Amino acid sequence: MYSDLKPSFSFLILLFLCLQPLIFSLSTDASPPPTVCIVGSGIGGSSVAHFLRHYFHPSPSQPTPPNIKIFERSYVVGGRMATVSIGGESFEAGASILHPKNYHALNYSNLLGLKVKPPPASEDDDSMSLGIWDGKKFVFKTLQVDSKFPLVQKIVSYVNSFRIFFRYGFSLLKMGSFVEVFVLFIAFLFLPKKSTVDSFLKYYESPERRPIFETVDEMLKWAGLYNLTTQTLQDELIGIKLSPLLIKELVTVITRINYGQSVYISGLAGAVSLAGSGGGLWSVDGGNWQMASGLINSSDVSLHLNEEIESISYLGEYYELNSTKRNSYSCEVAVVATPLDEVNIRFSPAVSIPERKLQHTHATFVRGLLNPAYFGLRTVAEIPELVGTLEDPDLPFTCISVLKQLDENDTTYKIFSRGPMSDALLDSIFSARLQTNRINWGAYPHYKAPELFAPFILDGQHLYYVNAFENAASTMETSAVAAENVARLILSRYFSEASLQSSNLQSFSPDADVSHFDL
Ligand SMILES: Cc1cc2nc3c(=O)[nH]c(=O)nc-3n(C[C@H](O)[C@H](O)[C@H](O)COP(=O)(O)OP(=O)(O)OC[C@H]3O[C@@H](n4cnc5c(N)ncnc54)[C@H](O)[C@@H]3O)c2cc1C
Repeated sequence: MYSDLKPSFSFLILLFLCLQPLIFSLSTDASPPPTVCIVGSGIGGSSVAHFLRHYFHPSPSQPTPPNIKIFERSYVVGGRMATVSIGGESFEAGASILHPKNYHALNYSNLLGLKVKPPPASEDDDSMSLGIWDGKKFVFKTLQVDSKFPLVQKIVSYVNSFRIFFRYGFSLLKMGSFVEVFVLFIAFLFLPKKSTVDSFLKYYESPERRPIFETVDEMLKWAGLYNLTTQTLQDELIGIKLSPLLIKELVTVITRINYGQSVYISGLAGAVSLAGSGGGLWSVDGGNWQMASGLINSSDVSLHLNEEIESISYLGEYYELNSTKRNSYSCEVAVVATPLDEVNIRFSPAVSIPERKLQHTHATFVRGLLNPAYFGLRTVAEIPELVGTLEDPDLPFTCISVLKQLDENDTTYKIFSRGPMSDALLDSIFSARLQTNRINWGAYPHYKAPELFAPFILDGQHLYYVNAFENAASTMETSAVAAENVARLILSRYFSEASLQSSNLQSFSPDADVSHFDL
């Protein structure tokens, strides 16, 4: 019996080997590589492309990697990572600082060979002087001594710690620099066992141990961060008995600088904002936008600059994307990597997401000299390098900081405000203005509590939304973290789990949802 079978079995193997090229070519003919179209070339869109390449592994059903197209309405990549040139020098105009535990951004910098550097003194923690301006006077000012001697600097730092303690209370006693107070406060008190930063680190755990999430709610719940989105920062801080003066002054200064908003933002956006005021902050030398351009260059992407997507229509097996250049593109998978709140993309069929407003931040760059009289002072040297402000609708700016002092009469400043800074207003704040640049950013979501989140999958098919995660917090790193999840979601849903590196991935399904609006 066995000997009878032997020749026919060998024959079958031989036949299979002979026919294998034909079978393979038929299977590849049957499934040409699908196209993934990404709208937006910021850190979110470029990270989706990067992680699609990183996690894709050929499988019998999908032997070839997808084609990737990125559409960018601007003539440059990077989105909210952009630089401005003042006096021949370049400064970050949008996203400027990264946290030492922003591991995706660190990996990108290493992978792309980008040089990292500390941000300008005004955006770092302890090397600049701070004043809190209420519109009429400085309610608090750190001591300012311009000395190169380390001993003098140390003494000034101790004196400043004492002044901060004296104003805000006993719990600040051990702090060397005022911002670290908050990082530690949040770390110890918001989450009794784990800090917010530690919880966030779960998103870097190995993919084998990390589920793929279909909703932001589940993604936040898994890391233990969701509850922080259900209460305002103010309520969280009152809950831990933080002094009202501390909340009204120092905490408010930080949330206004980082998100242009008050302490009524969600606890999670607040914690991220406060963490962005700690030590060890960094940025990419030459501009953070290089992370996006490097990822796009290294991910075999067809990049369409100056091409705005106007509509995305689902036509059964694929999406049709139409652009302002009157071009049409067919894509099996479509990814929206830009906030949908102010863009005019028409969806067919319409998609429904919770209503969200963007907070506009007007970034005004001035090369010139501040007018001490505006602040009721006699000399420019008395004006702190970082002027923060209290929450008062009549205040025309949220902060003014020194970016670079060229000489005694020539300094580059950055001003953030909720509305545009008119020439008349600038002429009252500055005694001299050599150059002025203005950028109106649709900067970040207007945060509230409880937050409502759009799903990562907009239509139940293959239309994805990276910036659904921005209601949790808006940073370069959170965009990268959301993008990684979306890339894994695409690979697991479209390319089947077999194409993913790990075999035991779980997926969370969406919750039932509430108040939505149609796009
Ligand atoms: C003033 C300011 C300061 C900030 N400071 C920091 C900071 O210090 N640290 C930090 O981590 N984060 C900071 N942020 C937040 C950070 O910039 C964002 O969270 C992050 O860059 C968002 O990246 P993204 O890729 O999701 O979106 P974006 O960077 O906004 O990218 C979206 C891209 O999509 C393009 N686009 C939009 N619509 C279309 C269309 N229809 N067709 C084609 N293209 C389209 C846009 O032109 C844009 O390039 C700051 C933001 C601002 C504005």
